Amino acid sequence: MKFVIATHNMKKRDELRRILSPLGIDAVLAEEMGLELSDVDEAGVTFEENALLKAESGCRETGLPCVADDSGLCVDALGGAPGVYSARYAGEHGNDPKNIEKLLFEMRDVPCDKRTARFVCAACCAFPDGRAVTVRGTCEGEIALEPKGTGGFGYDPVFVPRMGGGRTMAELSAQDKDAISHRRKALEALASELG
Ligand code: IMP
Repeated sequence: MKFVIATHNMKKRDELRRILSPLGIDAVLAEEMGLELSDVDEAGVTFEENALLKAESGCRETGLPCVADDSGLCVDALGGAPGVYSARYAGEHGNDPKNIEKLLFEMRDVPCDKRTARFVCAACCAFPDGRAVTVRGTCEGEIALEPKGTGGFGYDPVFVPRMGGGRTMAELSAQDKDAISHRRKALEALASELG
């Protein structure tokens, strides 16, 4: 079965593709089919709701089973913020440096042992017959005192995953990030649900 990937975030799209292919999910980008997917209003209050909105919209517009993810960073000391607002934490959608600056400012008085956080990814596959499968993957870690590394995207330079040997996510190779990431765990769960 052929699946289409719905996302406008190029970095996320690369990760989705990289991870899906070895899981045996044959995924194409909407652009490769000559289609431009509409922007979806991420009106949900959970990652799962937003992933479903994106997958259903992509499925409607392409007529194919559609895989989408909604993801973000949840910081314990901030009551779970930025959460579903991760992409627009500092106001402007997708401004990674500003989002990181705001996060470090909000965390300025939080001591090292209270800086725990997790990346969350909800992945959804919506089918033309109306069925949908939604799953979640998480990656535990903590917020660094300053940004380090140039890989990845979003909050990667300030997220130190528990399984990353003390390096930030942005200091890991793409393969090492994929091995432990929230996106990888969600897509593995999705692949196993899809059989
Ligand atoms: P979405 O496109 O609404 O799912 O927004 C996801 C936002 O969460 C991104 O813009 C990033 O700020 C953050 N995010 C999600 N996954 C990652 C990741 O793997 N690394 C770093 N930041 C991430």
